Amino acid sequence: MLQTLRERLQQPHKIVIIPHKNPDGDAIGSVTALCGYLEQLNHEVTMISPNEFPDFLNWLPLSEEFVIYDQETDKATEKLKEAEMTFHLDHNAFHRTGQMEEVLQNLNTFFVMVDHHQQPDNFADLTFSDPSMSSTCEMIYHLITGVGDAKLITPAMATSMYTGILTDTGSFKYRSTTPTTMRVAADLMDMGANSESINRKIYDVNTPSRMKLLGVALSNLRILPEYRTAFITLSQQELDENNFNKGDTEGFVNYALSLNDVVFAQIFIEKESEGIIKTSLRSKGDFDVNLMARKHWDGGGHRNAAGGKSELDMDATMEKLISILPAYEKELLQTAI
Ligand code: 5GP
Ligand code: MN
Repeated sequence: MLQTLRERLQQPHKIVIIPHKNPDGDAIGSVTALCGYLEQLNHEVTMISPNEFPDFLNWLPLSEEFVIYDQETDKATEKLKEAEMTFHLDHNAFHRTGQMEEVLQNLNTFFVMVDHHQQPDNFADLTFSDPSMSSTCEMIYHLITGVGDAKLITPAMATSMYTGILTDTGSFKYRSTTPTTMRVAADLMDMGANSESINRKIYDVNTPSRMKLLGVALSNLRILPEYRTAFITLSQQELDENNFNKGDTEGFVNYALSLNDVVFAQIFIEKESEGIIKTSLRSKGDFDVNLMARKHWDGGGHRNAAGGKSELDMDATMEKLISILPAYEKELLQTAI
């Protein structure tokens, strides 16, 4: 498969690289790193994000070159129609690109998927899917080195890949962090990624308003010890009152999960403009939130980190959560941590 990809990349092509909607560090990191690589192979590369990405990622190399689909739909659509290849990074289904889904479904191009989520759709002509990987960025590293091009990894590309590995592993804390992940991170430092500087740019992002919003989130925290569960809500009004900026709520759910006897945490964030409540689920040990998000919250993700949405109002959404938990009681109480 690597051979097929290598052959395909021998001639210059028009290529579009796409992360998932609401892209995170792994999505933007993998797309920008791959872009840096493909440009060196003389391809004409366009990066198209379904929507804007949070400010804490806007310093990443090449990030200013993204075409944002929901802001520049005509330009993005034209690039997609011209594309001879599209790369789908950090997602494994067209619907994860939000509004771009329809255009993608009608494209006649060569689709490549590189992703580490479970249960991939089979839209791609080449599918690199490995749920045992810490991150898509780690997969991009293995792809580039696997085709013998380690020497083409620039400090900028190393920075992008290090960032995605850092954010998707919760700073090398999650179980998905393997000895190989650590070796890849070390190699990326050798290749020019500055760990201290990256950590500062990603994590030292508090503003007074984000801090206040965190205070609101923590005061809304509810703990259900009988289910070893904790959850947080944030209404649109609470977001507005605290000058919510995209990305501000990143990581809030981890405060709920950090309670010592909690194994399952969920945050619910109202998005009035979309008429939904966006939710993030996190777990410890073997408790599988990917399955839970797929079954109840119209979403998915990984075993220990998943997302989804609710179309009910906040009160009804809370009632739904409370009604779901009894079915998981045994599993929650038995989860070893
Ligand atoms: P987050 O909660 O940080 O937005 O996402 C956690 C994980 O779940 C990420 O791997 C993300 O790609 C996945 N995820 C988040 N929201 C959704 C969703 O609505 N649908 C699916 N299938 N996956 C999601
Ligand atoms: Mn990822």
